Amino acid sequence: MSKDIPDKQLDLLYGPSENSLKRHLEERLGRPLVLVLTENASTMLSVRLHGGVPRIRLHRMFLNAGNEVLDEIASYMKKSKASMPLFRSFVRENREWLAIKPPKKVPLKTAGTYHDLRELHDAVNKEYFNGTIDAAITWGSRSPRSSVRRRTLGSYSERSHIIRINPVLDRKAVPRYFVAFIVYHEMLHAFLGTQPAGTRRSVHSREFRKQEKLFHEYEKAMAWERGRA
Ligand SMILES: [Zn+2]
Repeated sequence: MSKDIPDKQLDLLYGPSENSLKRHLEERLGRPLVLVLTENASTMLSVRLHGGVPRIRLHRMFLNAGNEVLDEIASYMKKSKASMPLFRSFVRENREWLAIKPPKKVPLKTAGTYHDLRELHDAVNKEYFNGTIDAAITWGSRSPRSSVRRRTLGSYSERSHIIRINPVLDRKAVPRYFVAFIVYHEMLHAFLGTQPAGTRRSVHSREFRKQEKLFHEYEKAMAWERGRA
């Protein structure tokens, strides 16, 4: 992200983050706490004191919760008898999150002959997402059959949080900025996620296309792909 964008706008671009959630709860509670986000569908919220410091375990879906819901959580932490109508309706409205299973363990292969996906992922994550994307990355399968069939250069699985990059890109002739652009594109899918239930799902929404252009070498990458076609 370029340095001349004011902080306010950066917040909008980066959307809800673990840190801002933690900060909000700490402000309301008036003390530091430890926040652990979980995928645990059976316990949405648990609070425990750990060496005098409240340790709160909260389902990941609350990254999208509004301040009123968070305020209720803070009140609950102060006084465990507090009722939580907003919390409950938020969970009801976000039930589809509960269907997401924890990431499957798949072997990840990041080192290529010409391009190192781990290094590219980390560089793009730092440059564009403040290091907030926690998706895994791997080269896709190289079996001749599937590489012929697979027409996309990259994919992101929301279910397993895995970015797969087509191994056809691991060639000397493919510039680093182009592979970085494909990695950026897939990380943007991880970052923006799917639309909430009830709205029409668009894989490449207008917002997606807008943010895609923030990649520093966007025009160059587009031109390279056109030249290749
Ligand atoms: Zn895409």
